[in-house]
Amino acid sequence: MQEKFTGLVLGGVNFGENDKILTIFTLEKGLITAKIKGVKKAGAKLKFASEPFCFAEFITTGTLAKRVVTGASLIESFYSIREDIHKFFCGGAILEFTRKLLREDIVSKELFSLSIEGLKELSFSNENPKKVLALFLINALSVVGYGLTIKDCNCLPNEEKTKRFFDYSNGAIYCEKCKSFGAREINPLTFETLKNLVFGKEVSSSGLDMVIRLLDYYISNKCETTIKSVKELISLQINL
Ligand SMILES: [Zn+2]
Repeated sequence: MQEKFTGLVLGGVNFGENDKILTIFTLEKGLITAKIKGVKKAGAKLKFASEPFCFAEFITTGTLAKRVVTGASLIESFYSIREDIHKFFCGGAILEFTRKLLREDIVSKELFSLSIEGLKELSFSNENPKKVLALFLINALSVVGYGLTIKDCNCLPNEEKTKRFFDYSNGAIYCEKCKSFGAREINPLTFETLKNLVFGKEVSSSGLDMVIRLLDYYISNKCETTIKSVKELISLQINL
């Protein structure tokens, strides 16, 4: 059976001498895996289609575990993401998010377009890559059912609240009075940056670093998975 997909290559593993097994996030069927043959040979015609970040139209034959890519026409390679280490980890995190958090049998046009938009922004705009990633994660978490509630609780006037606490079990923020056992105190700058992000206001680079740490903490605890590229990005902050 021949099929046509609009897809984004999330990653691949080597198979045999010259082949690869790709994980492709498709608009039509969600996550699929497909073999692509001969791509490790010099001058292979479909080599471009076997690289992470490749956004293309794919032609496949076979079904399910036996799909083979027989043709591809490039839409966008997002090549410039590889030329900057921050962009690279932020882009890598976008790919990894879907691989780890989208169930195999789910079609998500929303997550697909969030991913493509995020990668476009990393490639072609001058926006801080960490801002692109933080916004992607906030929106993508909501698409996969782990949305955050980025606002104050309603118990007291906000000016009477001095501390804020984040409860990963429901992704919400509370004051000292309302917080549950186990909620973790967050820096006022983290909360400020989260709010500014969702309302489209200016954010600082140090605020973004803190937000990314919070998102990493949330994903590890709530979604019980680790996005390695986010960890790499955080270790880059420490080493600088
Ligand atoms: Zn409260």
